[in-house]
Amino acid sequence: MSETFNAERLTRLCDFLRQSPTPWHAAGNMAARLEQAGFQRLEEKANWQLTPGKRYYVTRNDSAIIAFQLPESELTGLRMIGAHTDSPGLHLKPNATQCSAGWLQLGVQVYGGVLLAPWFDRDLGLAGRVHVRHADGHLESILLNVDRPIATVPSLAIHLDRDVNSGRPINPQTQMAPVLMQSDTATLPELLAQWLKEQHGLNGIEVVDFELGFYDVQPPSLVGVKQELVASARLDNLLSCFIGLEALLACDGSQGALLVANDHEEVGSASACGAQGPFLADVLKRINAQVGGKVGIQGDGRKGEKRDKKRDEKGSEETLIQLIQSSLMISCDNAHALHPNFRDKHDECHGPAINGGPVIKVNASQRYATNSVTGALFRDVCREADVPVQSFVTRADMGCGSTIGPITATELGVPTIDVGVPQWAMHSIRETAGSKDVEYLTRALVSFLNRASLS
Ligand SMILES: [Zn+2]
Repeated sequence: MSETFNAERLTRLCDFLRQSPTPWHAAGNMAARLEQAGFQRLEEKANWQLTPGKRYYVTRNDSAIIAFQLPESELTGLRMIGAHTDSPGLHLKPNATQCSAGWLQLGVQVYGGVLLAPWFDRDLGLAGRVHVRHADGHLESILLNVDRPIATVPSLAIHLDRDVNSGRPINPQTQMAPVLMQSDTATLPELLAQWLKEQHGLNGIEVVDFELGFYDVQPPSLVGVKQELVASARLDNLLSCFIGLEALLACDGSQGALLVANDHEEVGSASACGAQGPFLADVLKRINAQVGGKVGIQGDGRKGEKRDKKRDEKGSEETLIQLIQSSLMISCDNAHALHPNFRDKHDECHGPAINGGPVIKVNASQRYATNSVTGALFRDVCREADVPVQSFVTRADMGCGSTIGPITATELGVPTIDVGVPQWAMHSIRETAGSKDVEYLTRALVSFLNRASLS
């Protein structure tokens, strides 16, 4: 194996994780890197004029993003990478202000399958989007990130709960409202106004609505004697968003390539910007309408003109189905690595090792979209990239999670494979993955995006 520890890439990863406490921040940071690399922003409400050889991106709800590059030559299929921008967490209720024992607390609702216990005794920040009304009456949406420890969820001392280590259940309604300040009168709207003034210089505004969540302000770090591990919040699935983006930015541009990062995977993907919504299909329709159809466009501008004439006939539903069926989606979402303290939770022959390379996820009940055709292709991609590959299937006596892969495959009919970096502590406030696996999956995806043939 060649070099698997890329310090610069890991630094970029840690910066991205730290600066992306919410899907809006994640999509915004991805958009900023795409812009820097020359990708042109498209607006969903505007007409699109797509040119072969150019690179574009578009967002929906500001929390999901699709970036793509069109080849100079005929678009015969797209090499697609999927991921999701959201992570489980504690989100604020609309009327969040509550007061107990002289403390201002904020009521929370649980977003996704949160592992609740690790949220206690953490230094919490608050981030999301806030909508304000200015003095002249106009509304504005603002990204807020109070990136300092403004809250905590204190544990109850063991002396007051002797059974706590015997599996006492945690009630998020009554036991998990973070405490923010010693006050009987302070309210959330007042605090928001103060933070908006502090961060954005806003005065005389009224907070009209918000979507905000708490997060751990401890920055990501490399852990282990040899720094074998990356520890951070939101590795599921910002790690895949980051790797997909790195691969798209590093590929040679010779092939049609697309990265989609949906929102709302952790709550089932059923939304306008989730994988079950029409975001990707809408973008593919528009790509097909502009540059779809198997019409040769190699050569000079005159041939390009000929092609323009044929576009109307060719950018049809027929060519859209051809495009989708000639494409491949690698859906990237983290996998469960074998845990040294809980080895019996994995099938004996399917315990993916941290730093053992990307994991192909298989499930006979189609909780993962992988089949032997897409699996074989990914194995070949990894062979070409000199990257080890592992497989995961859940124990036959346990249930299986799912991800955006099967949902995208169901919605679009695109051949799909589910893969992911192996990690521990999925859905904890601090998760752990392998630092070498970051490089392995990036290399495999670059090789995929540059691959001349998908068969
Ligand atoms: Zn997840």
